[in-house]
Amino acid sequence: MSRILIVEDEARISSFVAKGLKAEGFTPTVVGDGITGLDYALTGEFDLMILDIGLPGLDGFDILARISVERPTLPVIVLTARDSVLDTVTALEGGAADYMSKPFRFGELLARVRLRLRSQGEAAPDDVLESADVRLDLRTRRASAGDREVELSAREFALAEVLMRNRGLVLSREQLLSQVWGYDFDPGSNIVDVYVGYLRKKLGADLVTTVRGVGYRVD
Ligand code: CA
Repeated sequence: MSRILIVEDEARISSFVAKGLKAEGFTPTVVGDGITGLDYALTGEFDLMILDIGLPGLDGFDILARISVERPTLPVIVLTARDSVLDTVTALEGGAADYMSKPFRFGELLARVRLRLRSQGEAAPDDVLESADVRLDLRTRRASAGDREVELSAREFALAEVLMRNRGLVLSREQLLSQVWGYDFDPGSNIVDVYVGYLRKKLGADLVTTVRGVGYRVD
């Protein structure tokens, strides 16, 4: 499975990303400073790097500059603060890297990770998820129930994807919140329940099972 290097000094973000990637079957390694991050990136042991810009030791731009010379085939996804998107885009011009501004949703990052790995020629993970008569096509982002095509919002699609990927497992509201809405979302919110309601309405009442006091499951 793909090995992913996460260079990020904010433990809250790196553990959120690492946990999410692990749950998706990737092998993440977290490094909290720029100098170690560059060392690790140059080992050739990783298939992709997720890189913060503001880092102790050596910043993300310096790391990118070294990588583009010494390991130009390593795909990089840069995490950048919203107010420095412009600097980041300028710095990335011509390079092989992609960027995401913080705060971001895990689902978005995951989609980019998959895309980058796929364009590197890695074997693609499941492209289609199915449960009973519900079908999600992850490449075209289309959903259907039976022979009916169903229009899902990006958030609804992301929630359905996480539940169907973990078929048979109960996912707590907190797990779903962090995977679909991101780490900045209020854990007391009932948004997960609201969206499960939307999915049931659109894809069929039986798709998602409520496990009282624990969370939700797709069978
Ligand atoms: Ca930082």
